Amino acid sequence: MDEQTARREIVRVGRLMYERSYVVSSDGNVSVRLDDGRIVATPTQMCKGRMTEEACAVTDLEGRALTERKPSSELAMHLLVYRERPEVRAVCHAHPPHGSAFAVAGLSIDQPILSEVILTLGCIPLAEYGTPSTAELTDAMRPLVKHHNALLMANHGAVAYGTDLWQAFDRLETLEHTAKIAILSRMLGGARNLPPDAIEKLINVREAAGYLDERARCQSCGYLHETRITCPTGERAAAPAATNGAGAGRAHMNGAGKIALTRDELVELLAQAAQLGRE
Ligand SMILES: [Zn+2]
Repeated sequence: MDEQTARREIVRVGRLMYERSYVVSSDGNVSVRLDDGRIVATPTQMCKGRMTEEACAVTDLEGRALTERKPSSELAMHLLVYRERPEVRAVCHAHPPHGSAFAVAGLSIDQPILSEVILTLGCIPLAEYGTPSTAELTDAMRPLVKHHNALLMANHGAVAYGTDLWQAFDRLETLEHTAKIAILSRMLGGARNLPPDAIEKLINVREAAGYLDERARCQSCGYLHETRITCPTGERAAAPAATNGAGAGRAHMNGAGKIALTRDELVELLAQAAQLGRE
């Protein structure tokens, strides 16, 4: 992609992010990696709803400004993604309310509740908290970038990336939509997870269709551990501690043979045990 097209599309995506309330004020940032390796990025301290093409900054892969405009102070997280994922050409970072609610509550979006999400995105893990625009944040994200296409950042927000800017934006939108559905389903009594055999079929379809390749089998979601799908690299991440994010909170076994329970399930189990003791 040439620089002018990148500037134009960044402005369009920035406006969409603002109109959809994924960002307010000067929050969030968007970048594109050009064919020559330079990065075009949103500038620091500017509302994404009122941005112009001329306002965008251009940097090298180290984040050094090549024009007068200063890039966002959060560019470091974009550069981390570009370094870890050579095929990635665009990154969108925002604070979408439902996705950020998961991040604030300390929850991943990792329950198998929506077939389309398993097909096209996979699970969205939660990176531990790190001060924005410091190495703390990029250190927390680093282990998760390789096998996931979107991440939550604890007490902060979300980031999504892809082979072009629209794929990165679409993934951010899917993240937010999934979080919203998960929250709404809780009001209706809780989501029902897809069973492991249905998940296996979805993984087979997504690989046959080329939506996600085998690297996505290494994702940190506990539901992949429940299936017969094996991880080709042997790098399968441990299921995160907070795995009751989007689903019904059903207890599940992860790769290490540990059982994860929600607080409510634990309370119920203890109550049952106490009841048995009395009988
Ligand atoms: Zn941010």
